[in-house]
Amino acid sequence: MQIAPGVEMLELPAMLMNGPGVLCPTLLWDGREVALVDAGLPGMAPQFAEAMARAKVPVEKLTRIILTHHDLDHIGSLVQMQRSVPHPVEVLAHAGEVPYIQGEKRPLKMTPEVMAQMEEQMKSLPDERRQAMHAMFESLKNQKITVNHTLGDGETLPYCGGIRIIHTPGHTPGHICLYLEASKTLIAGDALFVDNGKLVPAPAFINADSSGALASLKKLTAFDIANVIAYHGGLFGDDPNGRISEIVGA
Ligand SMILES: [Zn+2]
Repeated sequence: MQIAPGVEMLELPAMLMNGPGVLCPTLLWDGREVALVDAGLPGMAPQFAEAMARAKVPVEKLTRIILTHHDLDHIGSLVQMQRSVPHPVEVLAHAGEVPYIQGEKRPLKMTPEVMAQMEEQMKSLPDERRQAMHAMFESLKNQKITVNHTLGDGETLPYCGGIRIIHTPGHTPGHICLYLEASKTLIAGDALFVDNGKLVPAPAFINADSSGALASLKKLTAFDIANVIAYHGGLFGDDPNGRISEIVGA
């Protein structure tokens, strides 16, 4: 779905932990740069290529991948996409996420308890899905992501109309939202979800630090926001500022 000139919200069907769902990475371009915000689950590179072709921005033109945070559903197809592009694709993320993205620290949500639970759950899956999950985890062991550019709070990337980086710790320590200055679009990552058409905070149980997450949402009230793109839930354009103020109790 086109949100503004050079801003396309992709809508990619994906098999999530709780069943089938849709992920909404954002595609940005300006004639020189083509940037993707977040990279789906492992194995989704062909879906990205198709969706980008539909937006008339072929994946071969990709120059940068900006990661809002290190969760698997945001970084999974990054390496696969890099491999499908004939030139280097720069990876950008906040300093607080780098060790998790680069595999130097265990992903925050992958505690031994969670891993054991997943193993248990996988036993009850139909053979085909269980094999797909195993293949996914195996493929992850063989890929190494390198972050080329570390992002800081308040930094503005000088392409695609100006992309302001907003450090919004809470969901993860180095989570960022992106504010597109030209179209007043907020790419929320997992700081905000859209659930049944309503803009809501990320569910507390998936946040590393819930009070931090709320403080981060307060930070967003300083921006003039016409549209929010939530990675989980998609577009919200019905007075986002009013709704965010309501959420933070301002
Ligand atoms: Zn997510």
